[in-house]
Amino acid sequence: MKSYDVVVIGGGPAGLASALAAERHGAETLIIERENALGGILKQCIHDGFGLVRFKEKLSGPEYAERFTEELEGKKIDVKLLSFVTEIRKNGKFYLSVVSREGIEEIEAKAVVLATGCRERTAKQVSIHGTRPAGVFTAGTAQRYVNIEGFMPTKRCVILGSGDIGLIMARRITLEGGVVLGVYEAKSTPSGLTRNIHQCLYDYDIPLHLSSTVTRVFGEGRLEGVEVAKVDEKMRPLPGTEERIDCDALILSVGLIPENELAEKLSVSSDPRSKGATCDGQMMTDVGGVFTCGNATHVNDLVDYVSESGEIAGKNAALYDGKNAKYAFVRPDDNLLYVVPQRLNLSADNSETVIYFRSKEVRGKSVVTVKADGKTVLQKKYPFLRPPEMERIKADFSSFPLKENSVVEITVEEG
Ligand SMILES: Cc1cc2nc3c(=O)[nH]c(=O)nc-3n(C[C@H](O)[C@H](O)[C@H](O)COP(=O)(O)OP(=O)(O)OC[C@H]3O[C@@H](n4cnc5c(N)ncnc54)[C@H](O)[C@@H]3O)c2cc1C
Repeated sequence: MKSYDVVVIGGGPAGLASALAAERHGAETLIIERENALGGILKQCIHDGFGLVRFKEKLSGPEYAERFTEELEGKKIDVKLLSFVTEIRKNGKFYLSVVSREGIEEIEAKAVVLATGCRERTAKQVSIHGTRPAGVFTAGTAQRYVNIEGFMPTKRCVILGSGDIGLIMARRITLEGGVVLGVYEAKSTPSGLTRNIHQCLYDYDIPLHLSSTVTRVFGEGRLEGVEVAKVDEKMRPLPGTEERIDCDALILSVGLIPENELAEKLSVSSDPRSKGATCDGQMMTDVGGVFTCGNATHVNDLVDYVSESGEIAGKNAALYDGKNAKYAFVRPDDNLLYVVPQRLNLSADNSETVIYFRSKEVRGKSVVTVKADGKTVLQKKYPFLRPPEMERIKADFSSFPLKENSVVEITVEEG
């Protein structure tokens, strides 16, 4: 059986950054990736806008990934492609069952990094009535068809949901000669980044219908049309507002969910607010030696922060000493959708703790306060906070004597 210090599951930007950081800290490292190439979701994101924070450049997804895959060369990092981790057991060390063309193999690891990304919500999860014709795709699937497989999945489509992937695909389909009849969003505010609303919809005269949804699909073999309707504030369709639109595809951009099957099998606890594994400031979950990063932890808006969390996880997986940890707990108030990390390890260096969060609602001028056992650690002012934009702050807890079960509160107030 092959044995490694750190095994990273997933070769997307989180996994790549994590493996490079683990190797820099002396760990014999393996990346396991189920696809035939490294890069994760970036491989199909041929638009630009990646790396603005990290490289101060506007890179395409594949260019951003290349910055990391090029760095792998000459490093003591093994890579196993077309290999899928189905199971992990902990018995002192970790034992991973890996399925590949060679069969099933077991690999041993001292620490494991879960960098498995996220999956898209599907039609089933948004309860649309009607038949089950071909022509209903998630935006990521449509993106893969157009950008990787070279197929055009639609001539005239409707997009449900204003998530970033849907917005990017609205522009892509238009550039490829298709017609996007409209983007329908049940919420009263868009889910995607403001820059994507402008650059992908308004610049191409694609209408955005807020407080509206798709209630029904028509067609037997292939989709022939959809029914759209206005919704009330509880997102219930308003009778009498229904309208039929003839189209050959419905593209769904209705949210992403962290991919957590392996974490669940390891009994890692998850956070119902972030929908990902809970972790401490070193990205370690509550199962010692299991680390999490990137979209597997929470859905990020910028890949730069995905890489950052990968680096934190990889470094700390390499330094993992097997000792039991004592924790302080991070509690976001109800104005926040979620906060990562959810715990602080008292024996770790918490002088540069990166905290990621999202606001639950669109807010104007706001002040975010971090308090440890009632004492203010930091305050930051924001001109506005919007749920689609993930925020990041760095806190120094070194001069705050945190004890076991201390509470770190994160609150948002007007100001
Ligand atoms: C369509 C789209 C557009 C985006 N646009 C932008 C943008 O303009 N700018 C920007 O900064 N960010 C953008 N992002 C965000 C950014 O690309 C993602 O946040 C980032 O790719 C997530 O990285 P990750 O490594 O966590 O996950 P992924 O990139 O999804 O990588 C996870 C990898 O894990 C592998 N895997 C999963 N389970 C297993 C298993 N059991 N065994 C083996 N391998 C496994 C998968 O095959 C995959 O390769 C976009 C994202 C999407 C989806």
